[in-house]
Amino acid sequence: MKILLLVCCAPDATYSTLALREAGYEVITYFYNPCIHPQEEYDKRRAAMAQLADKMAIEDIKEVPYDPERFFEAVKGFESEPEGNKRCDICFKLRLMEAARKCKELGLEIFASTLTISPHKNAALINALGKEAAEHYGVKYYESDFKKKDGFKKSITMSKEFGLYRQNYCGCEFSIRK
Ligand code: SF4
Repeated sequence: MKILLLVCCAPDATYSTLALREAGYEVITYFYNPCIHPQEEYDKRRAAMAQLADKMAIEDIKEVPYDPERFFEAVKGFESEPEGNKRCDICFKLRLMEAARKCKELGLEIFASTLTISPHKNAALINALGKEAAEHYGVKYYESDFKKKDGFKKSITMSKEFGLYRQNYCGCEFSIRK
């Protein structure tokens, strides 16, 4: 069965793709990240996803617009929140809702997200938001915690092997370390 995988960055998509393939899915990646700032950084991360798709022979949806205004509008009033708080919840929800919408648009039954591979992110919260988004669009959500079974470590090894660009901040301008 095909599954749509919401990708936050190529390094996180390495092991997540492998795990889903091992679970019997045919993975289609969807790099939807209006939060990434600035445009040059977005372009670098997008290019890394294209590189990974090539290396792992993944079907990757390429026609995805970069719409940072949507992110800024959604997190208005929460810009100064520390990472891991309300702004991030809104950011996760925005991306998961879009993945659910895309899943429906493509006529697929189920979607997943690479977000749960990060040791800095709350998998339970991401899964709850994913299920909410799935229910909204009448599709299914694949619950995951890709960091388990050394998933995060494996993603680092795979990224190195593939020579993928790895960023040093989460994505939005508020997460750039001064
Ligand atoms: S820190 Fe990361 S998860 Fe939080 S709002 Fe910024 S890009 Fe989104």
